Amino acid sequence: MSISRFNAVEKASNRKAVEAVIPDRKVSDYYGENVFNRKAMKKYLSKETYKALTHSIDNGTSIDREIANHVAAGMRMWALEKGVTHYTHWFQPLTDGTAEKHDAFVEHDGNGGMIEEFSGKLLVQQEPDASSFPNGGLRNTFEARGYSAWDPSSPAFIVDDTLCIPTVFIAYTGEALDYKTPLIRSVEALSKAAKEVCNFFDEEVNSVTCFLGWEQEYFLVDEDLYSARPDLSLTERTLLGHESAKNQQLDDHYFGSIPSRVQEFMKDLETECYKLGIPVKTRHNEVAPNQFELAPIYEECNLANDHNQLLMSVMRRVAGRHNFRVLLHEKPFMGVNGSGKHCNWSMGTDNGKNLFSPGKNREDNLRFITFVVNTLMAVYKYNALLKASIASASNAYRLGANEAPPAIISSFLGSQITEVLDRFENSSIEDAIEVDDKKRLSLGFGQIPELLLDNTDRNRTSPFAFTGNRFEFRAPGSSSNCGSAMLALNSAVAYQLMQFKQAVDALCAAGQSKEAAIFEVLKAYIKESKPIRFDGNGYSEEWKEEAARRGLDCESSIPLQYDAYLQPEVIEMFAATHVLNLKELEARNEVKWEIYIKKVQIEARVLGDLSLNHIIPVVIRYQALLLDNVAKLKKTFGEEEYNELSAEQRRLIRKIAGHINAVTKRVDEMIEARKKANKITDLRSKAIAYHDTVAPYLDEIREHIDELELMVDNQMWPLPKYRELLFIR
Ligand code: ADP
Ligand code: MG
Repeated sequence: MSISRFNAVEKASNRKAVEAVIPDRKVSDYYGENVFNRKAMKKYLSKETYKALTHSIDNGTSIDREIANHVAAGMRMWALEKGVTHYTHWFQPLTDGTAEKHDAFVEHDGNGGMIEEFSGKLLVQQEPDASSFPNGGLRNTFEARGYSAWDPSSPAFIVDDTLCIPTVFIAYTGEALDYKTPLIRSVEALSKAAKEVCNFFDEEVNSVTCFLGWEQEYFLVDEDLYSARPDLSLTERTLLGHESAKNQQLDDHYFGSIPSRVQEFMKDLETECYKLGIPVKTRHNEVAPNQFELAPIYEECNLANDHNQLLMSVMRRVAGRHNFRVLLHEKPFMGVNGSGKHCNWSMGTDNGKNLFSPGKNREDNLRFITFVVNTLMAVYKYNALLKASIASASNAYRLGANEAPPAIISSFLGSQITEVLDRFENSSIEDAIEVDDKKRLSLGFGQIPELLLDNTDRNRTSPFAFTGNRFEFRAPGSSSNCGSAMLALNSAVAYQLMQFKQAVDALCAAGQSKEAAIFEVLKAYIKESKPIRFDGNGYSEEWKEEAARRGLDCESSIPLQYDAYLQPEVIEMFAATHVLNLKELEARNEVKWEIYIKKVQIEARVLGDLSLNHIIPVVIRYQALLLDNVAKLKKTFGEEEYNELSAEQRRLIRKIAGHINAVTKRVDEMIEARKKANKITDLRSKAIAYHDTVAPYLDEIREHIDELELMVDNQMWPLPKYRELLFIR
């Protein structure tokens, strides 16, 4: 049962901070203690097993059954010593979030008893009974089922009494049913393509690693206030609620100190993260009241993404201990800043070079420009895809909706790089390239400052910004799996680098020098990719028009944005990089449309219920009070005096009646629109119908109810208001 507004407000305002439980040891003593990391492997595995396992981790090769058995035995021993009783294959289905199926470490011993059992077979592969995960028709229940398989590159970890084994989730026919599988494939494609291009400049490079450093934004709400809002409980966003008189205008939250309740929560969260080997580093308030951010030190992309997925579930658990609910929704409150998950992305070589850092010599600088320009080209060519990769019903409220910046991908480079690229573009091969006495490439534009880190004019409105030694993809939403965005970006850049290499090789084969070939190809790319570069205000209306003129994707309907996955050039790109085949792309889009439909459907149902069963009855009661009062005025005073005294109240009654009618009528229409949409069987068309004919009612109904909130007696209003939800003491 949901608790009443005033009860909830009172409980929340009397709530004391719950003290964090902090181990009285140094962080370095317990960092990673719940992870089967190399230290644990060394202790619990034989020398040969350790060697075989780390070799397969480092080289991405598979391990054989015998080694798997040894690993399983060691892992089990480690886990049992930590009081673990269950294990689970932990995977990332196409719904955002993670899934687990817990099994006990016991098996029948064949003699009527039980023994602790955990074989290599169970470690490496399992059939979760996961037929209810969305799979876009790839694996219907009558076909072979999907299975989960251990991803040794991400270490197993313990949560409570359960050993969690990070796994990929695939159909027996090999198609990916999750985010992890194609993410790993994309990382491999990118590493391979980037290594080959690196070798143009440095023969010594043997491998390239892709890095991700995410920044997780989130809101906290007191758990009682949350329970008193069915919309928050069921959809993670407020479907109603007038803006508070004060929200973020004064920026006082951003610079303010963290409230003690939140501080204790953060300390506990950090301790949990450290134990799980998640290298969290910064915590601070965000722009909006009750909004916060947590960011780790960046890591290898696949591991970083696992850590983000894990963090989101750890957050929810730890929040419970502090009587909070975490809201990971991109836009829980209208009129208040939304939450994103900035993805800081870069690549590094095995000899320690960041490919997005200029270096000391000209090769390094040309290499730097090569990678920046190829990234720009990829973002330019696949801007629609990148947008689709971050598109969701909830992120739409943050990008592309009424009060949100437009959903258009562009890239900010800052004045230094822009100048370098402009000079590059405007020089001819003759003045750009002279071969100096060391037979090295010499470029006419001189040296690039080695340190770009104080890119002081950083543009906060750019969805894809160069920030000194990395790109920061800011469009991913706070609730999303970064894997979706990263696999699109990695694949697009990988394919772009493959084409770059081909183009350079072709020119070389035709007799050009390598340097001249690189120069020529880059110059053409700089010209071609220009439309993606935008340093102005990405939130402005003018940019929308300008972007359309430049031919960038400006589609604002989420269901239609997903079409980008099925553009011929995108299909070709994913096929060439071996990340996703056509069957997988089609199936994944079915899942995306289905999730979109369900989200809107649930919101529409919840809003209908709130309107008709929570709000309107209260409004009618208040209206009855007014009517009663007016009737009494009439009885008490003569006509002239009555007319004068009751004028405003009668106006108010009419206004209220107007809103009551409007809300009821629109709820009815919304139900009709849903019924009609539900008859459509093709998922894409159905999603479009939900977007075009159902979703608009959400805003319209809300507008009327939010007006009513300002008219009706505060004592009667049934739901906690924004000012009550948004300010944790
Ligand atoms: P901001 O000002 O955007 O908050 P921070 O310095 O706090 O910048 O970094 C934000 C995130 O970027 C962190 O997760 C950090 O680890 C990550 N990051 C820093 N350098 C890199 C890099 N070269 N590649 C990927 N991520 C990086
Ligand atoms: Mg940032």
